Amino acid sequence: MLNCDDMAERLYPYLDRELSPEEMAAVKRHLQDCPPCRHWFVFEENILRYIGECGRKVRAPEELAARIRELRQS
Ligand SMILES: [Zn+2]
Repeated sequence: MLNCDDMAERLYPYLDRELSPEEMAAVKRHLQDCPPCRHWFVFEENILRYIGECGRKVRAPEELAARIRELRQS
């Protein structure tokens, strides 16, 4: 079972569909069970879609990992 820190590492590979099928399923399961990660995921997905339309990718995993830790504490 993934925890939220695992999610911070896997969210972008998940969005890029670079994970194994098992990991994709584990991420999906965590997103269903964890509202903070789900909100984060939707937020990032929308950003990636927007960035994709501009034809480039921007990533800041450290900042995002910090953000999700804040979400868990609130
Ligand atoms: Zn989570």
